[in-house]
Amino acid sequence: MSFETLGLSAELLRAVSEQGYSEPTPIQKQAIPVILEGKDILAGAQTGTGKTAGFTLPLLQRLSSKKCEGSKRPVRALVLTPTRELAAQVEESIKSYGKYLPLKSNVIYGGVKIGPQISRLRRGVDILVATPGRLLDHLQQKTLDLSQLEILVLDEADRMLDMGFIQDIKKILAMLPSRRQNLLFSATFSNEIKKLADKLLNSPILIEVARKNTTSEMIAQVIHPVDKSRKRELLCTLIKKEKWYQVLVFTRTKHGADRLTRQLIRERIPAVAIHGNKSQNQRTKALADFKNNKVQVLVATDIAARGIDIDQLPHVVNYELPNVPEDYVHRIGRTGRAGNEGEAVSLVCIDEKKFLKDIERLIKREIPQRIIEGFELDPTIKPEPSKKSAGHRGRNKKTANTTQRAGNSSRRRNNKRSSGGQNAGNNQQRRNSRKSR
Ligand code: AMP
Repeated sequence: MSFETLGLSAELLRAVSEQGYSEPTPIQKQAIPVILEGKDILAGAQTGTGKTAGFTLPLLQRLSSKKCEGSKRPVRALVLTPTRELAAQVEESIKSYGKYLPLKSNVIYGGVKIGPQISRLRRGVDILVATPGRLLDHLQQKTLDLSQLEILVLDEADRMLDMGFIQDIKKILAMLPSRRQNLLFSATFSNEIKKLADKLLNSPILIEVARKNTTSEMIAQVIHPVDKSRKRELLCTLIKKEKWYQVLVFTRTKHGADRLTRQLIRERIPAVAIHGNKSQNQRTKALADFKNNKVQVLVATDIAARGIDIDQLPHVVNYELPNVPEDYVHRIGRTGRAGNEGEAVSLVCIDEKKFLKDIERLIKREIPQRIIEGFELDPTIKPEPSKKSAGHRGRNKKTANTTQRAGNSSRRRNNKRSSGGQNAGNNQQRRNSRKSR
């Protein structure tokens, strides 16, 4: 099947062919015609499936096919994303796919000055991409009017709920016109997502391309058992010996990311850290340097890495396993994207066995284990008793006082606020964990 058969306009087909895409991905094949018809959708699709083009192309077509009355351009489409990085990337996609259309897009997120955003909004924007906290700030300050909105997209909705944005989202929804098209994308379908979908969507068409919590067949996964004290040495050995040139390494904490980055640099491996304590400018630069191969290793925490889209990222390393098993799926989804092969390597010490079990249960497969020669386990090392009983929770509580300077203010508000509800316990654990990430 080609893009031509999907009913897209000549301007969009031209932009798509300039991207070098020859064939639509499964999510694009299913979502584009349905969105063009004006229907609501509930799409189960992870990053890497081509979902951004899946909603951006038909959204652009729908907006361009109907001229807006009046001289001032109201916001007609809104895309909400969980992170600034994802917001910036989605807006970049909108700009490239819409380059032959007379539509204006913009992106707003927290961590940067609000003034320039207000001026840009005043000049008129057709399509706005935003993170919930800053969007709400604009709505409350009345620097943004969404009364003419025609299409709402919630991208990575599960991540947004995970990050404590539900109250912000509810407030935003209350300020939107009731007649509109809604597109909800989520990698997983928790009860919370189902509840949100019930409230938000009107007779939605259900589209699912990758089953819940499955990992792509294109990603080769391997576990290297190793003693905790030798993880750094093993990582350096692998990077040098295997000549890995673009490696995304996950650590559990911001502090851990900084420490590992310093150690890699000491070993003459160009590395940079990306996490919530870095300013937006530092994060943008780190990502750009990594994409342009100026640095070999990007060391990231889960939150900072969400939504990072790097074409053909060959290697993802879990320096530490995540304590939330779903994060493993998201982490390794950074590689093996859109038909490219990728490798996900996890360095697992004796204290992380429980996390490994949880992950394998979630992805319904056992991940092959391979001990690297020279890094055999020291049989005298036993699991640390405190970690075994408290998991990562104890560790996170210890670091929970660190201030997340560059974090989204609204997210912080929500983390404090929402303590009730059936998922509260689970969410609280995630939030404690997030503060250190
Ligand atoms: P997404 O899931 O939207 O984050 O997209 C993942 C990657 O797939 C991005 O780098 C896109 O540029 C790429 N992509 C999107 N659609 C296609 C397509 N039809 N053919 C090949 N690559 C694509």
